[in-house]
Amino acid sequence: MIRWCVEEKNPLVASAASADIPAVASLPLPPTFKHTAAVYFAAVVAVALAYLVRLVMAPVLHDRAPLLLFVLPVVAAVLYGGRGAGLLAGFLSLLASFSLVPASARGSAPMLIEGLFFIVVCSGIGLLGGRLAAERQLARRASEQLRLLLEGASQYAIFMLDPLGTISTWNSGAERIYGWTADEVLGRHFAMLSTETNAPEIAADELERARTEGRFTCEAWQVRRDGSEFLANVTITPIVGEGRLHGYAKVIHDVTDRRASELALEKREQHLQSILDTVPDAMIVIDDKGVVISFSPAAERLFGYSPPEVIGNNVSMLMPSPDRERHDSYLERYIATGVPHIIGIGRIVTGLRADGSTFPMKLSVGEAVTPDQRLFTGFVQDLTERKDFEARLEQLKSELIHVSRVSAMGTMASTLAHELNQPLTAIASYGQAAEALLESDTDIDKALLTEIVSEISGQSLRAGGIVRRLREFVSRGEVSKTVEDLPKLIGEASALALVGTREKGVTAHFNYGPEATPVLVDRVQIQQVLINLMRNAIEAMQDSPVRRLTVTTGLVDDTTVQVSVHDTGPGISADAAEHLFEAFNSTKQTGMGLGLSICRTIVEAHGGRIHAVPHEGGGAEFRFTLVRPPPGTTET
Ligand code: ADP
Repeated sequence: MIRWCVEEKNPLVASAASADIPAVASLPLPPTFKHTAAVYFAAVVAVALAYLVRLVMAPVLHDRAPLLLFVLPVVAAVLYGGRGAGLLAGFLSLLASFSLVPASARGSAPMLIEGLFFIVVCSGIGLLGGRLAAERQLARRASEQLRLLLEGASQYAIFMLDPLGTISTWNSGAERIYGWTADEVLGRHFAMLSTETNAPEIAADELERARTEGRFTCEAWQVRRDGSEFLANVTITPIVGEGRLHGYAKVIHDVTDRRASELALEKREQHLQSILDTVPDAMIVIDDKGVVISFSPAAERLFGYSPPEVIGNNVSMLMPSPDRERHDSYLERYIATGVPHIIGIGRIVTGLRADGSTFPMKLSVGEAVTPDQRLFTGFVQDLTERKDFEARLEQLKSELIHVSRVSAMGTMASTLAHELNQPLTAIASYGQAAEALLESDTDIDKALLTEIVSEISGQSLRAGGIVRRLREFVSRGEVSKTVEDLPKLIGEASALALVGTREKGVTAHFNYGPEATPVLVDRVQIQQVLINLMRNAIEAMQDSPVRRLTVTTGLVDDTTVQVSVHDTGPGISADAAEHLFEAFNSTKQTGMGLGLSICRTIVEAHGGRIHAVPHEGGGAEFRFTLVRPPPGTTET
């Protein structure tokens, strides 16, 4: 029994091998009528020949063993024509033998015994021969099926080698792929198909490895009849049977095109990689569960993580609280509702580096939906430098505002002096007049004194009116309120306020109450309040061992939200505490002492209140309230 040493991986060889011979042979090949008639005719001719030979031998044999010679046509008919032909030959042989013996001997005992013996022998031969013929037919059909199968595999060159590597079969696929016909290659060594200069040695090595390892597979360049070359996937399988090597089956598949497209793909990937390596923006690709799939070199530089530290983990590791805890739900919400909050929009958010520091970044996210995956690509732009620049700009702006404020105050002061001068001069004159009147010895003219006092009070009221009008003018700030998402508003303000704080070792923490949003505010003004409070906090913590800034939001009641800014600095000094929210009250050498008073003006103009509270764990805490929008108002 021949064993095919084939692994299941090669489908073609496996199919040829697993189709064991009886199974293939059991597929019926219908015998043709022409074939059957020829077989029966041959049986008749064989009997006739035996009859003629017996006639020729009659002078020697006389009427002895008349059936003996007829065993031959019967055996031949059974072997070559099957049982039917054998039966016909046997029957004709009996008839013919009858005609060879004289009528007197036909019923004799020796004749009957010989006839009986002939029938038994012929039946035995028929039985054995029939089985033999059937098996031969099965084997023939099986090999025919196998041949058809191999010939049909036109994409594969399949051929056999003898144990020394000489080509012994050659299918049409081989003919098509190599361009050699079977006649041209049969009997030649398969090394002729290789492009290598030392092909015979390589070929011998391949056969040896196939024999010892049970199978040999490789990719190798092959040469066609016309000299052209192609890259082939080669599998060599030893054919072992009854303990000895019968040869090898070799299967070749042309993979030049596949390899070329693989190389093209590889080249495109390399090209893409080179682009990604050079773009200044960091790129992070995540799947729909937030798991990082790709982390570009720029991202590596920006976040301080190497790709293996990030790939396979949740992207939330790159963001500070509260986004860190909430990112999964952001993704889930987007996948469920399809309403983007950041995808295709872009936002300024805070990033978290490997060393724990945070930085402002612009995040733009794109989405790619493939049949089996949904991917999100985030492009991250580090805004630290830009924010530094913006902060400088802000500083210049505030200096300018300060200058204009001073000059405005100067103008105001001179106007005030001018405006107040008249009533004050009048009051002084009336006062002097009243004094003179009281000091004179003459009787006091009550009517005159009453007139003087009433003038004094009139002029005082006028001065008071001027001051009141001035205050009204100062506090007449335009506030245009819109409905704003509080965490987003705080996030943007903190991105600005925290610029450069990493170097100072400040960490920022945000605890947002889920109910404490949205709010009805003038976004820029409230951000101004937050920036003031955060900047004060950062300045206050500069000499503290722990520099932790915490912004907390929470709901006070149905209509009010509270924001608190807490630091781990020394707390508010007694000097400052007394007139904390009053203008020109500062404990700093270069401070103007206007920040908190502006904060109070803004918060109160929003219908809220601001105050400072001593914090349990030390440090200062400023709290202010904001108004929630009436129910049903939508975010803008
Ligand atoms: P400026 O910052 O120009 O001094 P502010 O009105 O912002 O003006 O602050 C007034 C004063 O309040 C500061 O000089 C400081 O003494 C005190 N102060 C403000 N915030 C804090 C804080 N977080 N910790 C300690 N003291 C503070």
